[in-house]
Amino acid sequence: MVDAGVCRGSERARLVRLCAAISGDREVAEDLAQETLLEAWRHRHKLTDARGADRWLAAIARNVCLRWSRTRSGLPVPVAELPEPTAPAEDDIAELLELLPPQSRDAMVQRYVHDRTHQEIAGSLGISSAAVSMRLTRGKQSLRQALAEAEWRPSGSTCPQCGTRKLLMRRTPTEIEFTCASCARGDVLVRYPLDNPQFARLVSGLHRPTAMFRRVGEWALHYFSGGAGADAVCTRCGQPVTVRAHVRQGGNRGLYVSCAGCGEEVWSSLAGISNGLPAVRELRPRRLLEVREERGLIAVVHGSLGGGRTVEAAFDRTTYALLGAA
Ligand SMILES: [Zn+2]
Ligand SMILES: [Zn+2]
Repeated sequence: MVDAGVCRGSERARLVRLCAAISGDREVAEDLAQETLLEAWRHRHKLTDARGADRWLAAIARNVCLRWSRTRSGLPVPVAELPEPTAPAEDDIAELLELLPPQSRDAMVQRYVHDRTHQEIAGSLGISSAAVSMRLTRGKQSLRQALAEAEWRPSGSTCPQCGTRKLLMRRTPTEIEFTCASCARGDVLVRYPLDNPQFARLVSGLHRPTAMFRRVGEWALHYFSGGAGADAVCTRCGQPVTVRAHVRQGGNRGLYVSCAGCGEEVWSSLAGISNGLPAVRELRPRRLLEVREERGLIAVVHGSLGGGRTVEAAFDRTTYALLGAA
């Protein structure tokens, strides 16, 4: 289905419309759609569940279009982060169109998603063709602005993982993300969903990453304190959930919850959880020295950059419950 060679005509047309809506440029939409299909084909082994193919493709299209808009504006192009095909993705078009003023949104959807003419849109909205043009122009301006805001920018805080580079931060209306040019290997290190009420409460109004890590770290310390098997409450919808241990690709250990009710997944690495400990927070700036397994526990070791001070947080080897710090 995502193979460029066997892509159905209607699917391709839908992709072209999507790329036109995101990029605001119908002339390049055809090329962007082609590039999306190529990228999907290159990474086809990552799509393990065909039912998620449409959303996965839409997410790739969004990345391709963002990259294109960055290249065109002469800004540095970050390493493309491909979406995890199994992660619950929101409807990308809907999310993007939410950024638009409501008046422009109707006109944009009719024009770029349903491919209607200016006259047809004017008829359906009961306004003049000139007013339709005006709304489309405003809509495209808002979209460009929203895309421009979604750039990686130096944050002013040193990466707590490698301690060598400034963290890069990206803020959109729906999320705040951090990455590091030195140690993140093209991945997003930290992501806070702002449409999740818990995370919105924790980080909205804060500007420095260190302040956000501190707030979220303190919360995660409490939320995940029982380790795997403990009961918790979904941060998005309030339903009961169970904490589970989870090892990410690359061996990064952490705790997570996945809500059967709303699909929200919240994960924190053990390093992230230990960032909430007062003794760890006092090491400034710091870096993550090592995570090692010994005598039935996992030690997460943070060290100060200047002096030789270190703090070790100990977690249970199987439940990842925090046992203490020294
Ligand atoms: Zn780093
Ligand atoms: Zn939920």
